[in-house]
Amino acid sequence: MSLGRTRSVALSGLEGRIVEVEADLASGLPYFAVSGLPDAACAQAPARVRAAVTNSGLPLPGQRILVNLSPASLPKTGARFDLAIAMAVLAASQTVPPEEVANAVHLGELGLDGTVRAVTGVLPAVLAAEAAGIRTVVVPLANGPEAALVDGMTVLAVNDLTEAVQQHRARHRGVPLEPREMPLPGRRSDQSPPDLADVAGQDEARVALEIAAAGGHHLAMIGPPGAGKTMLAERLPGLLPTLNRDAALEATAVHSVLGELDGRLLIDRAPFVAPHHGASMTAIIGGGSGRVQPGAVSRANHGILFLDEAPEFRRDVLDALRQPLEGGLVRIARGDRVVSYPANFQLVLAANPCRCGKRYGSGAGCTCSPVVQRTYLAKLSGPLMDRVDLQLSVFPVTRAALRSEPGESTAVVAERVAAARELQGRRWAGTPWATNSQVPGSILRERNWRLPATETRMLDRALERGSLTLRGYDRCLRVAWTVSDLGGRERPTSDDLLRALALRGAVSEAA
Ligand SMILES: [Zn+2]
Repeated sequence: MSLGRTRSVALSGLEGRIVEVEADLASGLPYFAVSGLPDAACAQAPARVRAAVTNSGLPLPGQRILVNLSPASLPKTGARFDLAIAMAVLAASQTVPPEEVANAVHLGELGLDGTVRAVTGVLPAVLAAEAAGIRTVVVPLANGPEAALVDGMTVLAVNDLTEAVQQHRARHRGVPLEPREMPLPGRRSDQSPPDLADVAGQDEARVALEIAAAGGHHLAMIGPPGAGKTMLAERLPGLLPTLNRDAALEATAVHSVLGELDGRLLIDRAPFVAPHHGASMTAIIGGGSGRVQPGAVSRANHGILFLDEAPEFRRDVLDALRQPLEGGLVRIARGDRVVSYPANFQLVLAANPCRCGKRYGSGAGCTCSPVVQRTYLAKLSGPLMDRVDLQLSVFPVTRAALRSEPGESTAVVAERVAAARELQGRRWAGTPWATNSQVPGSILRERNWRLPATETRMLDRALERGSLTLRGYDRCLRVAWTVSDLGGRERPTSDDLLRALALRGAVSEAA
């Protein structure tokens, strides 16, 4: 009996768990099987490994080969364990130095000719290896750049099985081979985003966008087609600070699982994700047959989820947004287990005032039935809109505004946003919150943060009269703190509260 072992990684969501891969060679009739909860694709690994090893001109022991993947409780999906299985077998037969192979994580699918094919989820898998104290990973060449994003990791990116064997042999001799040249990254994520200076007029909307960026507030824009809602939304990511290292790695990891990196390196700018209103629950929230895939809410993690024509989205989809909005992640049940993905996004909703889009100003020309007029925006009200601090009306730009001087550029506004974020970071240090939008209203109303009654008088009266709900009151407080931060003030004044009040409730008013 001879034993070979190495390691690989199984993913559940973005969470990777180390899988021990053991190959046992015994005499007897030729036989090759994989145990340890493989799915159909993983259970077919012996056929691929046998062909790949033989076609690479490497010796395959003609004996009983049993490969076990543990822990057995963890589902092993797809062909991503092929390379690890082949290496464990080759280590058992002393074709590769067993101690080199044992200390490395192997990821990759094998082609029948011995090619090591790219797999999804390499970045989260390498992060898991790093967390487990493993320092060497062998990955498909195409996945090399994303694996190399993890600090302190020796990445052996290989084109085929023979190269992987040569790498291990060379390292064993103490003369590691020159690292293979990694494929050049294609489209970089840091292409400059569209500029705010392109937006003519729209002074109020520009202010709202700046406040949304500064405080991380969810934003709804109600207005007719052609008012520039999409154009405004697309300019929000450019106003946001660059992602810190951990956030960037997490954002990149989601796209790695989806196989959507396209050779990009680190995604360190806030992603902008705009699913179509006809998109399915799976496309928005995540799921799917086979492996549970992240949806749009997770692709928008650390960035913007933009729902254009929001009332046209399916009601169950809109309702399902509440879980990620509350907890920053989605949980998807699959059989007896639950897969979770991060979904910490800033929501931007855009909606026409009614189905035909003409119900603004005098409302002349609106062809919607009275029922549609009443119910169109109502689909957005309730628990979802309770979380949207900024709700504003957007109108088509006037001719005069089109002729006016261009507004401030993204760079200028982003600087104020960064300064406001710094103030918030200092204020909320040591709390679970980083931005004003995350702070519960009850905290802002309690002793430490309560504003003088002279400043809140207007708001208090609106609350007493019933023209403002307590939730609306809290939204005003959060926004007012951000307005104050943008102005570099110690705490909000009555003017800041007035501005916040003006940016509240366009949806509830219109509905
Ligand atoms: Zn209408």
